[in-house]
Amino acid sequence: MSKLPNCPKCNSEYTYEDGSMLICPECSHEWSLQGDAEDSGEKVIKDANGNVLQDGDTVTVIKDLKVKGTSLVVKIGTKVKNIRLVDGDHDIDCKIDGFGAMKLKSEFVKKV
Ligand SMILES: [Zn+2]
Repeated sequence: MSKLPNCPKCNSEYTYEDGSMLICPECSHEWSLQGDAEDSGEKVIKDANGNVLQDGDTVTVIKDLKVKGTSLVVKIGTKVKNIRLVDGDHDIDCKIDGFGAMKLKSEFVKKV
């Protein structure tokens, strides 16, 4: 157990977890574990206009994109529904009508 960090306010070691929050019973300070792990935490994925993207968003493609390994091209203006954000160079996982499952780069889409 007890791998939890001490309270940042009063340095109590009796901190406990409540969901994603840590709570100190001594000074009632509450803070988020995620805040401590900033750098390794979730990264924010933005579209070409700098809008933050989320799972389930609908986006449109802003330039013709060749589909790797095929002669298919996803045309500019293609609507992509229900995207899923993933890690990696291509950070959007999605399904496009007529193409099936594929990955896109967030810099080549914009949120609808
Ligand atoms: Zn405390």
